[in-house]
Amino acid sequence: MADPAPKTTVFETMSSLARTLGAINLGQGFPEMEEPGELIAAAQRALAQRSNQYPPMRGLPELRGAICAYYARTQGLDLTLDNVVVTSGGTEALAASLLALVRPGDEVVLVQPLYDAYLPLVEWAGGVAKFVSLTPPYWAFPLDALKAVIGPKTKGLVLNTPNNPVGTMLSGKVLEAIGELAREHDLWVLCDEVWEGMVFDGTPHVSPLAVPALAERAIKVGSAGKIFSMTGWKVGWAVAAPALAARIAGRHQFLTFTTATPLQWAVAEAFALPAMWHREHLARYAAAKARLTDGLTAAGFAVLPASGTWFVTIDLAASGLPADDVQVAERLVREAGVASIPVSAFYAQDAERGYLRLCFTKEPAAIDSALARLAAFRAAI
Ligand code: PMP
Repeated sequence: MADPAPKTTVFETMSSLARTLGAINLGQGFPEMEEPGELIAAAQRALAQRSNQYPPMRGLPELRGAICAYYARTQGLDLTLDNVVVTSGGTEALAASLLALVRPGDEVVLVQPLYDAYLPLVEWAGGVAKFVSLTPPYWAFPLDALKAVIGPKTKGLVLNTPNNPVGTMLSGKVLEAIGELAREHDLWVLCDEVWEGMVFDGTPHVSPLAVPALAERAIKVGSAGKIFSMTGWKVGWAVAAPALAARIAGRHQFLTFTTATPLQWAVAEAFALPAMWHREHLARYAAAKARLTDGLTAAGFAVLPASGTWFVTIDLAASGLPADDVQVAERLVREAGVASIPVSAFYAQDAERGYLRLCFTKEPAAIDSALARLAAFRAAI
C-alpha cells in the first residue's frame, strides 16, 4: 500500500533556502559556535581505547550511572540503572516510548505549539491525537482545555519543558495539577525534557518524575545533544519507573538495538566534568542569547520572555510587522537574507500566526550581521 511521502519540514525548506540564497541561518536549531574540546578529546580516546563493538542493549552501565548522578545533582531525582534506557537521540526515546505506550485507537493529548516528531509518531503507533494549545503571548498551560479534552479513550499526553519553540517551562504547580488528572484518568505522561540543561533565567527545571502523582506514570526524555551542544552525536535516553523502562527497552531493542559505543563513553565522561564546566558552557550560550535579544529589542522588535532552549521568539504585531509569520519568514529570507522559523509550523490545527522563532547559537559576528539585516528590514517596512 502506498504511503504518501511526508511533506518536507519547514526546517529543511528554510535551511535549503538559506543555503541557496546565502542567508544567515537562524532557522534550524543547531550551534555554530566553538565545540567543547573536552568532548571531542573524550570521543577520540573512546574510539582508540574503549570499544567499537555493540554495547549492552540498554546502554553502557557507566553512562546510565552518569545520567542517574546528573539528575540526582541537578534535579534531586533518586534513580538507578533500571530506570534508564540509552537511545539514539531524544527522538528515538520518544519513538520507543510511544510505540511501547500507544495502542490502535488510543487518544493521546498533544500540546501546541508542538515539536514536529510527536504527531507522526503517535499516528504511526495507531493513536489518535487530540490537541490543546498554550495561550500566547506568555504561553500559559491550558489546564481547563486539558480537562475538557480528556475522554474515555484518552490514554496519555505528551509534554515538553522547556518548550521548543517558545522557551517557556512547566512549573511544579502545573505538573501537580496534571498529575491529579493523570491519576484520576489513569494516564501516562511522556515528557520531552531535552532542553533541561539550557535554561538561562534560573527557573528551576521540574520533571514530572519529581511529582509524586506522576513518578510511576511519567517518562522523561533527555538528550546529550542539547546538554553538551553535540546535536550530531544523537545520544539520548528515556527515564521511567523500572517496569515502564523495561517496556521502552523492548521497543528500543528493535528500533536501533544500541547507540554508538564510543559516543556513549564520551558522554559518560562528559557528565563527570565539574559543575564549573557546565556553568561556563551555559554562560557562552547565555551571552549569545543576550546579544540577539538586546539587538532585536534595540531595533524595535518585541522579544517574548523565554526561560530556555536555543531560541527566542518575536511577537510580529508588537514589532510593527504583519502578523503572518509564514509571509514574514519568506520575506526575511529573500529580502533580508536571514532564515527564521514561523511558529505556526509547530501547530497541527488552529495555528497561531503572529510569532517567529530565531535561533541564537551563532558566533557574535554572525549574530551582529543578522541583527543589521533584521534592523534594516524592519526600518524599511
Ligand atoms: N525534542 C525537542 C523538543 C527538540 O527540540 C529536539 C531537537 N531539536 C529533539 C526532541 C530531538 O533530540 P535529539 O536530537 O536528541 O534526537
